[in-house]
Amino acid sequence: MLPLVISQLQEKFMLFSGIGSRSAQKLAIEVLEMPSPTYKDFVTSMQLVKQSVCFCDNCGFFAERTSDINFCEICKNKDRNQLQICLIEKPTDVMTIEKSQIYKGTYHILGKLISPLDNIFIEHTNLPKLLATKLPNLLSQNPNINIEIIVFLKNNFAGDTTFAYLRESIEEYNGRIKLTQLAQGLPSFYNPDTLDQATMAKALENRR
Ligand SMILES: [Zn+2]
Repeated sequence: MLPLVISQLQEKFMLFSGIGSRSAQKLAIEVLEMPSPTYKDFVTSMQLVKQSVCFCDNCGFFAERTSDINFCEICKNKDRNQLQICLIEKPTDVMTIEKSQIYKGTYHILGKLISPLDNIFIEHTNLPKLLATKLPNLLSQNPNINIEIIVFLKNNFAGDTTFAYLRESIEEYNGRIKLTQLAQGLPSFYNPDTLDQATMAKALENRR
């Protein structure tokens, strides 16, 4: 019924998470209805995001693509404590923690959490980079100083599995790496948008 190209665009929109068939069709039709200048701006914006933004080679947060190896603003900031690492799942979780306005450490973004039932194993996450490269480097560069990893993962099976794996993996460092978790009181399936500055700051201060 619909012209083939609209159905094809609809399928493309369905690649976005949370966009079902009906929403995708609506978006495809809105593209058709869009005035030409707006459409051109839209396409340019998409291209720019893809060309000029990448993921930080150290922590996985968004970084400006300037060369083959790129670091984000947080990793480049010398005032940030490199020995305090907040472990999170998604790049957007950085914004949630930054909301606290008191966190001055760095981040490590896992991308995915270990979930064997969904066929997601350690190698599909960004944990090997932390365990095999980042932590050994930091420990050897700072011989007498300990590292703190603040875990801020979802309170579900995948979050717990990932935490358990991490705890086991750092045992070999004989206490030089301290694991803490944000204080209880954060909702199990937190919504980053509804966590205000005060709640976030309190959760950080009361970490255990
Ligand atoms: Zn970074």
